[in-house]
Amino acid sequence: MTPRLTVDLDAIAANWRTLARIHQGDVAAVVKADAYGLGAEAVAQRLHAEGARHFFTAHLPEAIRLRPLLPSAAIAVLNGFAREDGEHYLAHDLLPVIGSMPELIAARATARAANRRLPVALHADTGMHRLGLEPAELALVARDPAWLDWIEPRTLMSHLAHAETPNHPANGRQLVRFRAAAEALPGVPTSLVNSSGIFLGGGFRAGLARPGAALYGINPTPGLPNPMRPALRLTARVVQTRAVREGETVGYNGIWTARRPTRVATVALGYADGYHRALSNRAEAFFDGARLPLIGRVSMDLTTFDATDHPRLVAGHWLELIGPAIPPEELAALAGTNGYEILTSLGPRVSRSYAPL
Ligand SMILES: *Cc1c(COP(=O)(O)O)cnc(C)c1O
Repeated sequence: MTPRLTVDLDAIAANWRTLARIHQGDVAAVVKADAYGLGAEAVAQRLHAEGARHFFTAHLPEAIRLRPLLPSAAIAVLNGFAREDGEHYLAHDLLPVIGSMPELIAARATARAANRRLPVALHADTGMHRLGLEPAELALVARDPAWLDWIEPRTLMSHLAHAETPNHPANGRQLVRFRAAAEALPGVPTSLVNSSGIFLGGGFRAGLARPGAALYGINPTPGLPNPMRPALRLTARVVQTRAVREGETVGYNGIWTARRPTRVATVALGYADGYHRALSNRAEAFFDGARLPLIGRVSMDLTTFDATDHPRLVAGHWLELIGPAIPPEELAALAGTNGYEILTSLGPRVSRSYAPL
């Protein structure tokens, strides 16, 4: 009776098609962190069936797990290349995303030792300043072909720092720098935009897009209506309901006091499941067309809701905590984070299943 996450693979596929319709180039699927908590294997297989041929993970083991499920797809590992992992890239036909000169040197050494060219993605730093070759480093690589003698660049990529803020001047600056990088390496396919970047329009609608969040229903256009379909529902079971007298408090530290005789629904979900403690006294759950206020502290395994106005709710019923009625962004705003963290926080006790919502 642990919390349940229902993932709608048809909705994810529809979201991928929506993005493919808007974007002028090819569209990949970012499935790092277990597809943002939704299950990388099921998501990747469904999107491959839909036509996706490029996948991105953050870590090598995530990519190795996907390889047998996606025999013909390009699978790239965003977090960079470590010398000791080199053989695995070759053995599983995975693309390391090369994000620094030491990584490039290590990748060449791996390829040379194996006497095989190593296909890679090259990451250009255009302003995020986290990973990527700097413009001068890329110029160096482009000038001297010896840098790429054992390396086969399949993609030149970069990443936007302000994509969800369409008017931010950094977007244009990054596009200019990215175009300069692409000119230095003519013929290498490019990849710049994430989910929100697809919606920047204009020159951003080129190359291979790398959406993650929007596939999973997170709004890529904050402040505007969400163009994506909700793709998941998190529900948790009502363990019991009980009556609390006016003036009594509920839960740890007594941070909520009943102002009327109150029916409390105690639900089997807590911060150990990724339902953030910062939601204490703030969030709402959804049941039978109505919302119930969260009362008191979110504890590790239990959370309490005010069911006074919902006499039909009894033990054994399931409340929606995230889903079509309660989007991840709503909880994110209350918890001081983003929808990405709401999804990727969902813990191992949450059982995943795949069905239409
Ligand atoms: C996570 C990630 C993405 C996907 O970003 P979304 O905002 O989820 O679409 C794309 N590119 C890189 C480099 C990433 O790290």
